[in-house]
Amino acid sequence: MDMYDSLNILAEGRQSECAGLVSLIQRWLAEKGFADTGQNPYVLKLIADETIEGDGYAFDTAENGGEIRASRLGGLYAGAGHFLLNAQIHKGRLCPGAKPVISIPRKKVRGMYFATHFHNFYHDAPLDEVLRYVEELALWGYNALSVWFDMHHYTGLDDPEEVAMVGRLRAILQKAQESGMQPCLGVLGNEGFSTTPDAQKAQWKAQNGHSGLPGGHYHVEICPNAPGGMELLLQNREEVFRAFLGIDFKYIWIWPYDQGGCTCEKCAPWGASGFLRTAPRVAELARKHFPECKIILSLWLFGASFEDELGIFAKNFKNEGGYADFILCEPDWRTGKLPVREGEVCGLPVVGFPEISMYGCTPWGGFGANPLPGRIRQLWDECESDMQGGFPYSEGIYEDINKFVISRMYWHGDYDVDAALAEYARAYFGGGVAEVAAGCLSGLEHTLFREVQDPNRIMIKNPGRCKSIYDALSKCDAEMSQKMRASWRWRIVYLRALIDKEASENDFYATPACREAYDELTAIYHAQNANLWVRPPTDDFARLLAEDLKRIIGY
Ligand SMILES: [Zn+2]
Repeated sequence: MDMYDSLNILAEGRQSECAGLVSLIQRWLAEKGFADTGQNPYVLKLIADETIEGDGYAFDTAENGGEIRASRLGGLYAGAGHFLLNAQIHKGRLCPGAKPVISIPRKKVRGMYFATHFHNFYHDAPLDEVLRYVEELALWGYNALSVWFDMHHYTGLDDPEEVAMVGRLRAILQKAQESGMQPCLGVLGNEGFSTTPDAQKAQWKAQNGHSGLPGGHYHVEICPNAPGGMELLLQNREEVFRAFLGIDFKYIWIWPYDQGGCTCEKCAPWGASGFLRTAPRVAELARKHFPECKIILSLWLFGASFEDELGIFAKNFKNEGGYADFILCEPDWRTGKLPVREGEVCGLPVVGFPEISMYGCTPWGGFGANPLPGRIRQLWDECESDMQGGFPYSEGIYEDINKFVISRMYWHGDYDVDAALAEYARAYFGGGVAEVAAGCLSGLEHTLFREVQDPNRIMIKNPGRCKSIYDALSKCDAEMSQKMRASWRWRIVYLRALIDKEASENDFYATPACREAYDELTAIYHAQNANLWVRPPTDDFARLLAEDLKRIIGY
């Protein structure tokens, strides 16, 4: 195997555009233990090549080096990902392993959605860590990044906290843009600031055909049919769009629910009536400020509280002026069925919103990594192959493995999830332990599912393999390089196995070792102030849960 002691990266004619990528490649390898001595170099060339289709890349080897060709910046990042994911570091030396390939992605929309709220990682981690994470996604071939600016807890655009949040989101979107990804923004059809006057507030009751309450609501959303409602709604929206001027949005999402909606007599059923009044107006504003953006209309939670909401929507939605470009939907969580398929609604293409964060385990990420390869495979088989791609829903870095597996699906169109786990384990944990570690990642899906019957005793539904997984990962831990072993990616996997093993041997009560692990996870996620749903279940979990349930039920 050829080994090298330094890396020279040449970005011929693209130095300025590729400066971020050159730095990223060097940092990525250093994080894995590469010690660049300046001697015996591997020469990696980044070359503009207009003959490479779309976001694709070509990688080829040369004597003492290799070259990546792409027509777009995103293609160079994906090609660099191919180089890096196949490289190994042995005692500080670089062993490149990438094979020559021409690779063109199958899905057009390879997005990621950062839920930028709840004081989760994206909300509270030092900005540098979040920006570094954005770059990693570009290496995996993601070409779009969406964030959400939540209005409900701010008084308005002059709220200092709001100013800080806009600055943070702008930095994240800017980094996505510089990494060859398309920035996107999620908005709600009738979002309001905390200062919404009572006269314009949306109603949120089981009434007018709504049999229940569909998803979250902050009770400051706006009724577009109330006097002055539409004006206030558009005025707010315009202010928010203005705050993001200069970001070259490629997609703007417009959502009906969760939070959101109004169940008053004139708005119900919200998704097929009130929402269809506000969505074209919001789309018009979006295009005014971001003329290149495509509008993605979400059908999230359609039918959750109004039985034939989708049927009425299909009749009422005319897409006048072609304001919507995509439909976003996911299989109904109760029926497992996809509400609409590609082209069924006004001929529009469909993008997905796969759930990778919350499935089967509360609090989300509370016990470490949550690999869901089997679930992702199932979702893919059900619907993703009919879609243009999608935006997985991410609440933090604990579902990093799920993001990686989906990135392979979006890029290749279909992919063996076990091969994806093996690729991940080899790149991030090292070739020496990859096979065993990948098998454990698959096993961690089986032991993930939990039930919170008592907040102090969170039951693991399938504890059978907890000890064997922990034993296997402990052996890996002992064999790994110091750098790999100390990385957050490894720690969240290892701690997950440790917590599972400890709890399963203690009637599902947390042991002192579990509590130490919760503290370490909290530090890794920067979740010290996080909402209880996105933090480890430390000692105050029971109190926070009681308070939150009271808030939800008490309304
Ligand atoms: Zn209303």
